[in-house]
Amino acid sequence: MRNKLYIDGKWVEGLSGEMIDVINPATEEVFAKVPAANAEDIDKAVGAARKAFDNGPWPKMEGRERAAYLRAMGKRIEERLKELARIEVLDNGKPLPEAEWDIGDVAACFYFYADMAEREDIKQEEIIELQDKRFTSKAVTVPLGVVGGIVPWNYPMLMAAWKIAPALAAGCTIVLKPAEQTPLTALEYGAIADDVKLPAGVLNIVTGFGSTAGQALLDHRGVDKLAFTGSVPTGSKVMQAAARDIKRVSLELGGKSPFLVFEDSDIDEAVEWVMFGIFWNQGQVCSATSRLLVHEAIYDKFLEKLAAETAKITIGNGLDEGILLGPLVSEKQYLQVLAAIGQGKKDGAKILTGGKRAKGFDKGYFVEPTILVDVPLTSHVWNEEIFGPVVAVRPFETESEAVHLANHSRFGLAAAIMTKDLKRAERVAGQLKAGIIWINCSQPTFVEAPWGGFKQSGIGRELGRWGYENYREIKQITSYVSNRPWGWYSK
Ligand code: ADP
Repeated sequence: MRNKLYIDGKWVEGLSGEMIDVINPATEEVFAKVPAANAEDIDKAVGAARKAFDNGPWPKMEGRERAAYLRAMGKRIEERLKELARIEVLDNGKPLPEAEWDIGDVAACFYFYADMAEREDIKQEEIIELQDKRFTSKAVTVPLGVVGGIVPWNYPMLMAAWKIAPALAAGCTIVLKPAEQTPLTALEYGAIADDVKLPAGVLNIVTGFGSTAGQALLDHRGVDKLAFTGSVPTGSKVMQAAARDIKRVSLELGGKSPFLVFEDSDIDEAVEWVMFGIFWNQGQVCSATSRLLVHEAIYDKFLEKLAAETAKITIGNGLDEGILLGPLVSEKQYLQVLAAIGQGKKDGAKILTGGKRAKGFDKGYFVEPTILVDVPLTSHVWNEEIFGPVVAVRPFETESEAVHLANHSRFGLAAAIMTKDLKRAERVAGQLKAGIIWINCSQPTFVEAPWGGFKQSGIGRELGRWGYENYREIKQITSYVSNRPWGWYSK
């Protein structure tokens, strides 16, 4: 395990000497330590990224040259997939097959943005048709600058890839700060950068706490853009810090996404998607479909099946075979999730299944998959993101009631619809206020498609060409082509 910062192409100690314990959430053991970077370390890293952007070759390269580096990084990640997935499980707790998906997606993200970096239609100048024929004009895009990327602990390597790959493809340089709970796979990006001989300073990885290293990155005047994934309160701090220098900002924040199950749904299929939508990654997913709305005609039958299938979920150490649900990431998260369930009960919700620490473990942050019914509309569990394996359920009578309930949220990241009536699916999809709508599924994510939310779920979109454009600045180039003098004072 790496235990240094990766700055300017070198592995260096943190200046304060303070280290962060990295805890395996399945065993509660400290199995690694990484530096707790301070503001001076951040200053060094931003300085390196600044120098690489202002004086280095990276932003000036042809897209196809950058593409070759990105492709080599993707290849290296693929070669190390099994090993990186194991590190992710030790750090985050998720089941190994899910970690392997993640790392596969990380490699795919690098390949996708390698292709984008060399695509002509992305770089091509766009000629602007002016009415005034004395001028010609074109719009071009250029690399934006130095990026400060801050990512959370739920998909540590993948959320970092969603920032690093498009930023590098677009010609930016980056300082990335992973979450203090899960820093290890982020540091592996440093090793991968070394392997492919990425120019020094283009990619810098600085581990540290949010309030110190994170805040120093937000506040640093050498950073041009902040790219953040995490909670709404921290997202708000990112925007506040960005405001002083008018830094560019993109935010991917929380959600309380609804899943609407209509009466014509295939119950078996719907149950599997509903379970996947809330229990994969232990429910620690920003797009988790954590508010379940089921048509009253199938409500009882659906819940019976959902409870029966949920009871079969195998819980345990993510490295063990056949596990579907691992521990939550940290003690803090574990206590918060149990507290939210307790608050739900106080508010009048009933526990259909789960609700407690999982049985049979003396160590580890295991929480049973939990279904809450009769959940009051005003309750905390209905309105707030729990970020755990907890789904809140309510029945509905009509389509318009379902849409109204679904939209009644300060979040708007995702929504899912289950129905055999495709006209209805399209109609409801058109009415839901969310950045991602899933029809007859929940959660599949594609590097080609835009990802991000309405309302308090964020600003901007990641992935696809939208992700690339996040890291470009637009420039208008206009020429005076008339033979005549301009005529302000000359004639
Ligand atoms: P959570 O509460 O689930 O940990 P956060 O939004 O606080 O979610 O964390 C997401 C990321 O934001 C982490 O990398 C964390 O260290 C970082 N972070 C937390 N607070 C700040 C802050 N004040 N400034 C910058 N980064 C922060």
